[in-house]
Amino acid sequence: MRLILLGPPGAGKGTQAKMLKDKFCIPQISTGDILRQAVKDNAELGIKAKLFMDVGQLVPDDVVIGLIKERIKQADCEAGFILDGFPRTIVQAEKLSETLDEMGSVIDTVVDLEVDADEVISRLAGRSTCQDCGGMFHEESCPPKAAGICDSCGGTLAQRQDDNTETILKRLDVYQESTAPLKQFYKKQGNLKTVTARGSVEEIFSRVLEMVK
Ligand code: AMP
Repeated sequence: MRLILLGPPGAGKGTQAKMLKDKFCIPQISTGDILRQAVKDNAELGIKAKLFMDVGQLVPDDVVIGLIKERIKQADCEAGFILDGFPRTIVQAEKLSETLDEMGSVIDTVVDLEVDADEVISRLAGRSTCQDCGGMFHEESCPPKAAGICDSCGGTLAQRQDDNTETILKRLDVYQESTAPLKQFYKKQGNLKTVTARGSVEEIFSRVLEMVK
């Protein structure tokens, strides 16, 4: 099963991708996570990517396309994968199709998580993320049991550098301009499914499952 999760920042792509990964035992491939790890490691890729990430801009296409091409050819992707945060531009989507074509493969389903801008701002502004396992919490809707500590692994929670109002607004603009056109791209290919990303995480997950069945 080869899936893409589309949707604006804060739509819940990461949360739903983790749940799909656990259910179907296929890897979740998050370009955002890969880039954040590179930043943490102070790798050359991270130093370059940070300049774009901190201001809510997209990292150049050639950088992320290279990462994904390498990743989806790994053995653990043979039975499928979930792309979370990729593609984000038409060029990325075209290159992904080309690469899959060369591999004799295709994307089965693209799930678009639909949520409005007000909801996104409140979700992201109150979000904290575990620095160790990537688990996500929200000060109102999903607070951790102990302040600042991850319920799952005991790691430290922190607000993402790009989860401040100014950068969130920029990320939303970038989404509208560069990523939203992908809906039309995949609609034309006949594999776009739209899910309302409102309600509890479990409610949204059951809607997603309906779409990928
Ligand atoms: P995310 O965790 O998916 O919200 O991504 C965080 C940031 O990483 C984005 O705001 C971009 O700067 C960068 N990024 C992640 N995925 C991509 C992508 N597919 N193309 C370009 N930049 C990306």
